Amino acid sequence: MSAEEDYDCIVIGAGIQGSFTAYQLTKEKKKTLLLEQFILPHSRGSSHGQTRIIRKAYEQDIYTQMMEECYQMWFQLEKEAGVKLYRQTGLLVMGPENQENYQQIKSTLLRNRVPTVILSREEFSRRIPNINPMDGEGALIDTTGGVLYADRALRIVQRQFQKLGGTIKDGQKVMDIKPGAVVTVLASGGTYRARSLVITAGPWANTLLSHTGLQLPLKVWKINVCYWKEKVPGLYHVEQHFPCFLQLEIKEAKYHIYGLPSNEYPGLMKVCYHMGCETDPNARDTLTDKSDIDILKRYISRCFPGLVPEPAVVESCLYTVTPDNHFVLDYHPTYNNIVIGAGFSGHGFKFGPIIGMLLCQLSQGEVPSYDLSTFKIRRFQSHSKSAL
Ligand SMILES: Cc1cc2nc3c(=O)[nH]c(=O)nc-3n(C[C@H](O)[C@H](O)[C@H](O)COP(=O)(O)OP(=O)(O)OC[C@H]3O[C@@H](n4cnc5c(N)ncnc54)[C@H](O)[C@@H]3O)c2cc1C
Repeated sequence: MSAEEDYDCIVIGAGIQGSFTAYQLTKEKKKTLLLEQFILPHSRGSSHGQTRIIRKAYEQDIYTQMMEECYQMWFQLEKEAGVKLYRQTGLLVMGPENQENYQQIKSTLLRNRVPTVILSREEFSRRIPNINPMDGEGALIDTTGGVLYADRALRIVQRQFQKLGGTIKDGQKVMDIKPGAVVTVLASGGTYRARSLVITAGPWANTLLSHTGLQLPLKVWKINVCYWKEKVPGLYHVEQHFPCFLQLEIKEAKYHIYGLPSNEYPGLMKVCYHMGCETDPNARDTLTDKSDIDILKRYISRCFPGLVPEPAVVESCLYTVTPDNHFVLDYHPTYNNIVIGAGFSGHGFKFGPIIGMLLCQLSQGEVPSYDLSTFKIRRFQSHSKSAL
């Protein structure tokens, strides 16, 4: 084991949230160490895979408003790194017209002046000919929606962090944390000390927090990431201006369904169910439940006539969900130099730049740029409203 090393801040977990936090800290000239249990890059957490949806369409203003600034931060990173990370496609939102969440998304978009197109039935058939909408469904397009190139983004933010002088140590599992005015972190390859610690351990958040006497009501779900073959190649392709989509809850699907145009795998469109089976993050490959895929097959048969209703590729990924689907962005209740970013509930990737900024601000004792009351740990003592 190497001798102890001292830093201004240590970040545990090099997924998208930890990587952006570490990057932001080095921008603030803090000597920062980013620790990762696996050799990078890896596919065992939540941030791997080629694509994620980015959008402003949310039920709650706080997310739509944070995305306003977040888009600018993504563009800034693209410029800094000279790499394309975002592709605008628009996000088609479909849902029962009179359902509360559909109406809330519509009014949040309009209230926040997000460029939005409300589609009549005729316009829908003209603009999006290869989807059969269901009776009574409303449809709109959040024109800011699109695709983020996820693996590429993760690699770039880690590279920019290192360019600014930050240190990544991968293949180093954190085994213990000793809180104090100076926090000591014992990892498989060494012992490290810092004035502040940020824990962004994704599905392993509670394992790490147990060393600090805290447990959060987090559940880990395995998600089957399904790709479906186009019957005619190019029918749902990004070059044909096919949008990303969000199908809100319908009778046969208790959770929403989302998809991205065919792009990363030629001729295959990604369509997934926003729900999975609860799992231990270390044992996800033992799960064989495919009830989510059955729901998707039925949905695709009915609504996507140009896709073969049998997945051609199935990958897997993990969600870490809170009871209300809102994130956790807060100080540790006992140690104010330990900051926690957790529970991103399957919708956190797009917020990476802003979450990095907010966790950096908290770890430096600064007033955060946004009201973080929605994301506080104390809410778990009382009932709160869910995020999509
Ligand atoms: C199938 C799927 C689709 C999604 N789609 C979208 C989308 O369209 N749009 C969107 O915005 N979001 C989406 N998300 C959500 C988004 O990807 C996650 O919210 C985000 O990646 C979470 O990042 P994280 O950094 O918190 O976790 P992770 O990426 O899991 O990172 C945590 C890291 O901590 C490390 N770690 C844990 N324990 C230790 C330890 N003891 N020592 C050292 N390191 C440790 C882990 O190895 C891991 O690398 C999706 C997620 C999935 C799974």
